[in-house]
Amino acid sequence: MFIYFNGKIVSSEECVVSPLDHGFLYGHGLFETMRSYKGRVFRLVDHMKRMETSAGYLGWPVLPDREVFAEAVNSVLVTNNLPDASVRLTVSRGIGAARPDAASCGQPTIAVYASPLPKPLPAAGWSLTTVSLRRNLSSPLVKIKSANYLDNMLARAEAKKRGAHEAIMLNTDGLVAEGSMSNIFIVSNGRLITPDGESGILLGITRNAVILLAQAAGITVEERKVNPEELAEADEIFLTSSIMEVIPVTVLDGRPVGHAPVPGETTLMLAQSYRKLAESE
Ligand code: PLP
Repeated sequence: MFIYFNGKIVSSEECVVSPLDHGFLYGHGLFETMRSYKGRVFRLVDHMKRMETSAGYLGWPVLPDREVFAEAVNSVLVTNNLPDASVRLTVSRGIGAARPDAASCGQPTIAVYASPLPKPLPAAGWSLTTVSLRRNLSSPLVKIKSANYLDNMLARAEAKKRGAHEAIMLNTDGLVAEGSMSNIFIVSNGRLITPDGESGILLGITRNAVILLAQAAGITVEERKVNPEELAEADEIFLTSSIMEVIPVTVLDGRPVGHAPVPGETTLMLAQSYRKLAESE
């Protein structure tokens, strides 16, 4: 596998991260996961904008130019001959003193790599389980894609232990937040409902695209606080993420979603529209 690492395309064995890199020491880094379609990453600029916003939260000096990232992504897709891939961009704060003082750091460490797409979704959709871990509304970290994803990993592990595909996390107010690596939507009486930006979520690029697609199809979309009971009573549930796109959820906490454990009509329509959009841009 060839990786873009600090300005060069190298084989994975040649990438060396210093033990004094603040990403290694403190999880002081950012990342983006994206998906390429025929050699083009869907909404690459939006991913870069989100990383810039995240860098702002962390008080970083400026990130490298967007053109640098775009060229890095392109080189990685071409050298690995992977036009349809999962693409990950990781930037860590760089080498500094072994104390949590970002001002002491030098150049950021940057890596871009591509890997084959995950297996297609099962036709029956995913199962979801509500986990005990809560999204902390007092932490700005829940809004950014930082390299500190331990809460997400613990949530996912709890879900896997219970045999579910994905976790759903509530926030510290007890309201619905998001999946460990996805945003959540419910369809209820013909309306599409998703937790708002103050519910302890990452504002997903896919989430945004799906909201616009639904509105264009004449569906009323509500971004607001969502009670866990609304999940239990939903006609349909789906998740969104750049890599997995629109994921039908047919089982919630061991019970079928809606009337039957099969993907719903609105979910399937939006999944199709999203794929069409992503392939055509
Ligand atoms: N929420 C979390 C916590 C995530 O990690 C992700 C993606 O990995 C998402 C939501 C979905 O974001 P996007 O649609 O930008 O991939």
